[in-house]
Amino acid sequence: MAETPKYDVVIIGSGPGGYVAAIRAAQLGLKTAVIEKDDKLGGTCLHVGCIPTKDLLLSAEVYDYFKNAKEYGIVSKEFSIDWAAVQARKTKVVTKLAKGVEFLFKKNKVETIQGYGRLAGPGRISITDPKGQVREIQASKIVLATGSEAKTFPGFEPDGKTILTNKEVLALKALPSSMVIMGAGAVGVEFASIFHRFGSKVTILEMLPRAVPLEDEEISAELEKSFHRQGIAIQTQAKVESAAKSAPGVTVSYSSADGKRQAIEAETLLVAVGRSPNTRDVGLEKTRVQLERGFVKVDATMQTGEPGVYAIGDIVAGSPQLAHVASREGIVAVTHAAGKPVEPINYHQIPNCTYCEPEISSVGLTERGAREAGHTVRVGKFPFAGNSKAAILGAREGFVKIVSDEKYGEILGVHMIGPRVTEMIAEAVVAMRLEGTVEDLAATIHPHPTLTEAVMEAAHAAHDWPIHI
Ligand SMILES: Cc1cc2nc3c(=O)[nH]c(=O)nc-3n(C[C@H](O)[C@H](O)[C@H](O)COP(=O)(O)OP(=O)(O)OC[C@H]3O[C@@H](n4cnc5c(N)ncnc54)[C@H](O)[C@@H]3O)c2cc1C
Repeated sequence: MAETPKYDVVIIGSGPGGYVAAIRAAQLGLKTAVIEKDDKLGGTCLHVGCIPTKDLLLSAEVYDYFKNAKEYGIVSKEFSIDWAAVQARKTKVVTKLAKGVEFLFKKNKVETIQGYGRLAGPGRISITDPKGQVREIQASKIVLATGSEAKTFPGFEPDGKTILTNKEVLALKALPSSMVIMGAGAVGVEFASIFHRFGSKVTILEMLPRAVPLEDEEISAELEKSFHRQGIAIQTQAKVESAAKSAPGVTVSYSSADGKRQAIEAETLLVAVGRSPNTRDVGLEKTRVQLERGFVKVDATMQTGEPGVYAIGDIVAGSPQLAHVASREGIVAVTHAAGKPVEPINYHQIPNCTYCEPEISSVGLTERGAREAGHTVRVGKFPFAGNSKAAILGAREGFVKIVSDEKYGEILGVHMIGPRVTEMIAEAVVAMRLEGTVEDLAATIHPHPTLTEAVMEAAHAAHDWPIHI
């Protein structure tokens, strides 16, 4: 009988958590394998999340530029959307990046095993291959990186045509004339920006009192104002109750903020109300892995309660469901598995980016959060209306807001909404990591003309001395 293959580390799942963990494990000299149930590497982020959405957002932006070309002195009489070509470009980008992961696995000698993985006992993993054949492998350390799926509810099951999650909406064969989006979190508002810009009539229904509810309140207000100006309808405190097939596609019933029952018809309904962790049916039952509402509890080194088993990414309790967080957690887990010292993740210094139009980015405490934490808060705010690069880009909306502690000028949080702010937040993260102050940001010479000058100006504004406003 053939011997059961044995690895130093086996990772279940090849999303941005799993594949980054695998590469780092191999770099650390560990014999590494990744088990992936799908026929492609890269997980949610690469195939139905971060990458395809950002590609569609770019195509939508290009289309917008064409619509407004006159403003830039360009006369373009004929242009239209070739949806099939838009989708083809998205697929090309995704495929190229998936091949990139395959290449990196080969380069680093990470073995890929296609199949469904489950814990099968201490140091053992069972794999069910696509033909249903089951076999076992052994590993000194196991990393669970099984990610998440879109939450759905009875009566809102995706059918691929009218009721959609992030998966089906990315595979639409034609642009819908109208779309209701349930949920104004990052996923909801990004799809709103995509389809609105491509010409669909978009209505967002959000149960909570504001859009992007995890962001600073002023950011939510600015986004809602902008969406209103653009013509994206958004109703907050709107509780969706049911969805029924109807002539245009779907009728969505909900109760509005004033408690009245309302109904809205659209060709499609996108359900974007959060993500459930993939922790069922992965063999956790007979282990000491502890769950909290389905999410895996871990310590600062990403170890679960089961010796030798780590968890990373979207399945981790209390960790934001973001690709870059999954990747960092993967590095922490395998570094610890290799017996090397690790620096625990500071979850207060994680950048959040939402790529809607206008873009949003943030790190650290909101103004309200800082006050509730007992800080004496000093806020510095600078609008993009006073920034020269924003004027060149024709972007008039948004601002940079720095929340600092009055005593020493410690930066507690930075919040931005406006042009390309997702490219600007890393500066704030570095400043916070290095325990920088608003004075440090204000004294740092920023290149001109760039959008980043708005960060410097917001730091000046913390002391009431912004230059360009
Ligand atoms: C529409 C959308 C847009 C997003 N945009 C962004 C963004 O712009 N930036 C950002 O940071 N985050 C974004 N996210 C979130 C991001 O995609 C996730 O946080 C990230 O993918 C989590 O990585 P992960 O490795 O934990 O899991 P996943 O990426 O979900 O990967 C898990 C992998 O495990 C595999 N798997 C599951 N169970 C098993 C099993 N038992 N055996 C074998 N394989 C298994 C799955 O097939 C999958 O490949 C977005 C999400 C969505 C839905």
